[in-house]
Formats: sequence, C-alpha cells, structure tokens
Amino acid sequence: MSRNKQQQMVDDIESEVLLTHRMTGRDHLSPRVMEVMREVPRDAFVPSDMKHAAFCNGPLPIGHGQTISQPYIVALMTDMLALQPDDRVLEIGTGSGYQTATLSQLAKQVYSVELVPELSRKAQDVFRHLGYDNIHVRIGNGYEGWAEHAPYDGIIVTAAASHIPPALLDQLKPGKRLVIPVGEPYSYQELILVEKDIQGDIHKQNVLGVAFVPLVDSDQPGE
Ligand code: SAH
Repeated sequence: MSRNKQQQMVDDIESEVLLTHRMTGRDHLSPRVMEVMREVPRDAFVPSDMKHAAFCNGPLPIGHGQTISQPYIVALMTDMLALQPDDRVLEIGTGSGYQTATLSQLAKQVYSVELVPELSRKAQDVFRHLGYDNIHVRIGNGYEGWAEHAPYDGIIVTAAASHIPPALLDQLKPGKRLVIPVGEPYSYQELILVEKDIQGDIHKQNVLGVAFVPLVDSDQPGE
C-alpha cells in the first residue's frame, strides 16, 4: 500500500520539477536521486499522527516548531549537490533525519549537525531501526559546521540562514558544492547553489524561491 503512495510521491516530485524548470534550469533530476526518493521510507521519519500524510509532496510538522522538508525540495537539493559514491557530505539541520537518510544512500559518509537534542535523538533511533550505518550526528550550532571531519565533498543546509556561514565555505573542498537557503526568517528566501572552484573562488547561483524554518544562530541547544 505505502509502496503505491511512495510511487505517487515520486510522480508528484517529477511533475513539480517540470513546473519549476524555468526557474531551476532543470527538467529532470538524476535518475539515481529519484531511485533513492523511491526507496527511503518517508513514513518512518514523520510523527505517528502524521503517518497518513507521509507521502504527500509537502512539508509536515515534526515538533519543536520544525518541519520535515517537502519531498520535491529534498530531491532538488540532493540533485544540486551532484554527489559521488565516495563522497563525505555535511548536513546542517538533521531535523527528522529524512534528508540525512537520502544523502546516506548517495554518499559514503554523512555528517549531520542539529541544534535540538530531542530531534537528533529521534532521528538516530530511526537510522538505527532502518540500518543506516554511515550517518554521524552531532548536537550543536550548524553555523560553525563540523570542523573535525572537514573538508567535505558537499554541504547542505536545510534551514534558512541570514548569510552564507564563512565556516561552511572554509569546510568545503575546492571544486565542490554547498546548497543553502538564504533570507530572512518567514520572509523571502532564495535557494543558492554555491560552488568553490579549484582556485578556491566562490561562485553563487540563485536557483529557486523557498520557505524554510530559520537557521538559529545560537550555541544554546533548543529543548
Ligand atoms: N532536513 C530536515 C529539515 C528540518 S527543519 C528534515 O527534512 O527533516 C531544520 C532543522 O534545522 C530543524 O530541525 C532545526 O532544529 C535545525 N536547526 C536550526 N538552526 C540550527 C543550527 N544553528 N544548527 C543546527 N541545526 C539547526
């Protein structure tokens, strides 16, 4: 049953990719990314009272004022990273862990930072339950990245930042990509593809208007 619903979700992602192609410049996403969207069970990452809506192509509340991102946005941002199987990727904003799990199927190791300990713990339970064993998590302020395992082959931020955090640019390998929504909280935000060239110069491309919860600039863990 949920197989059919998940296939419907993938069809909805493909339709939205077509609808937005003039803005994003993409009329399809990588087949491997779409295969992963078909495989990772989104219903395992949503709260029990939201299971009925797990495969809708929209964001859902996960508690603590946070959301699990819309599947289309997860697919698009993952595609923008252009990951290779040997890559090590950093995610800021573990949240439900759904985006993290998606990355874990496309990269060798995933490092994910979350500010709210309770969300991080819940996500880790799901990773264990589903057997995702290449995910490493940390509780902390994602504006600082995770220097210990840097540099990364890709960095993805799943909350809206007021600016591109300098630490994340430092922790990105030359020739690699950072995908980040930038803008004011609950206002206009733009999904930006940042590329660090092999000389270390930074190039930015605005890809799409988006609506993310804010990336909180705080060293104080939330509840
Ligand atoms: N990828 C997640 C998105 C969750 S919403 C998902 O699809 O489930 C964004 C997440 O970023 C929230 O869990 C929020 O607690 C977290 N967050 C906000 N500010 C942060 C910060 N400074 N550092 C790390 N995580 C942060």
